[in-house]
Amino acid sequence: MNRSITLRTAWAALLVLGISIAGCGSRKDTPDGSSDDPPPIFACSTTQVADFARQVVGDRYNVQSILSPGADPHLYEIKPSDAQLVVDSTLCAENGMHLEGGEWMRTLAEQAGKLDKLITCTDGVEPLKLEVEDETVDDPHTWFSPANAKIYVNNILEAVCQDDPDHEAEYRARASLYLKQIDTLDVWAADQITAIPPSQRMLVTSHDAFNYFCQHFGLKSSAPVGWSTGSEIGGGLTPERRKAVIESIRDSGVKAIFVETSVNPKLIREIAKEAGVEIGGELYSDSMGPPGSAGETYLGMMRENVLTIVEALRD
Ligand SMILES: [Zn+2]
Repeated sequence: MNRSITLRTAWAALLVLGISIAGCGSRKDTPDGSSDDPPPIFACSTTQVADFARQVVGDRYNVQSILSPGADPHLYEIKPSDAQLVVDSTLCAENGMHLEGGEWMRTLAEQAGKLDKLITCTDGVEPLKLEVEDETVDDPHTWFSPANAKIYVNNILEAVCQDDPDHEAEYRARASLYLKQIDTLDVWAADQITAIPPSQRMLVTSHDAFNYFCQHFGLKSSAPVGWSTGSEIGGGLTPERRKAVIESIRDSGVKAIFVETSVNPKLIREIAKEAGVEIGGELYSDSMGPPGSAGETYLGMMRENVLTIVEALRD
């Protein structure tokens, strides 16, 4: 589907509904505990970005994720309510590197006149380059390396401190603790993964989302669907990729492969059957888990993924 048409349609619907655009989103008094003003809206494209934002701002902003848990950012079709949320926001944030298919978050920010308030969390991240169909594409799933997650947090932190300098010390203190927690996760995960025999250190998933995770923690990765579940260059399923994945499963002798929470599991189930291996469980990939689940935060989704992977691939 042509995403620019979809975006235009959503925007037109907004106007038809008579939703006011002018004057929205201007910053009110900084919430200081004594004010009844609602906190300003911080609109984020993905669940991971929203979690990073919450870890920095606490309750001083009303952080909202446009994507729901389990939603696929590559294929997402925006709604009029998304456009309104960005219009009403004081800050907004995207993953970037084309994770948001057709750059839907950037388009929403642009149409709301909020490009100067848009944080691109992957700014400063060194991308892995994917060679696909004679082109080079930056892999957008960068949060899977804890080192990159810290860049997301720092990008958000600097933008928030600029937007609300009165509470800079608080934001920096909160980020400081959270960055230490990411470091702890990193060390813990690397230690857990040592329980997987070297011959089993291969992660086969639905789509090519785990390259940063695998590079960081010393595994190989393989997926039948490319870096995007959509129709971008190098995205989608091809018969060649499907065949190559089955061959790599057989060649490696890996005993389990994994479905993802944000992707239909049908293909991986077929491949598991064909290759004669088990389904090792479900991994959080492009989305965190729902509220109340073990994977509802970045630290939680990474922890649960590591536990699932180690349990399936260890002796
Ligand atoms: Zn993806």
